[in-house]
Amino acid sequence: MKDSYIHKGLRKKLIEKLVDRGIRDEKVLFAIDSVPRHLFMDKAFLKFAYVDKAFPIGDNQTISQPFTVGFQTQLLEIKKFDKVLEIGTGSGYQASVLHKMGADVYTIERHKNLYLRSKELLTKLNCKCMFIHGDGYKGLPQFAPFDKIIITCGAPEIPKDLLLQLKIGGRMVVPVGVNSQKMKLVVRNDENNYNISEHGDFSFVPMLKNKS
Ligand code: SAH
Repeated sequence: MKDSYIHKGLRKKLIEKLVDRGIRDEKVLFAIDSVPRHLFMDKAFLKFAYVDKAFPIGDNQTISQPFTVGFQTQLLEIKKFDKVLEIGTGSGYQASVLHKMGADVYTIERHKNLYLRSKELLTKLNCKCMFIHGDGYKGLPQFAPFDKIIITCGAPEIPKDLLLQLKIGGRMVVPVGVNSQKMKLVVRNDENNYNISEHGDFSFVPMLKNKS
């Protein structure tokens, strides 16, 4: 679990790239600079940990590209103590970035292996989140409402149950689409009204239904 000067140096370079690409929220940049992404990667890809790309994490899934993590997190406008629901724990990297920003993180993963692996790793890293093995489409009604919701897999449409679990004034980022995705930001204005805006094209692994 080493975080060497070489890793730290590579992260600084990565941060410069993210700034160039438009990530400007200082708290997001600080969190990405602080979380050792190499610890979340498959051994075969260790030397690419600070390349701005998604990489396989086993079980046919990927760790999100740092730019995507920065972009989604920036759209969320995370504040300390925000209660945040993440769908798609994967490697646990995004959850760690949110935790580093002071959020209270609930994260759901449908894949048992990934759920177990990320829970073990984040516990070792002293990153206290609530890990749930289950179906993200259902969310966590027992813990709702959430200040923020982040979906880190491509959803064919905005999941209805999750809209209802968003606090009034809350924000949700969700990549919507089947083959490629449009990043959508949903802001809940009041009980029945949501404002939806679009923020560019992305490529995610699919959000799968009813398989947990
Ligand atoms: N946030 C992750 C990236 C995850 S990739 C990271 O930082 O590494 C997307 C993840 O979503 C995959 O692990 C996949 O298994 C999971 N996923 C797909 N459909 C899901 C669903 N319906 N509920 C919960 N997780 C789901």
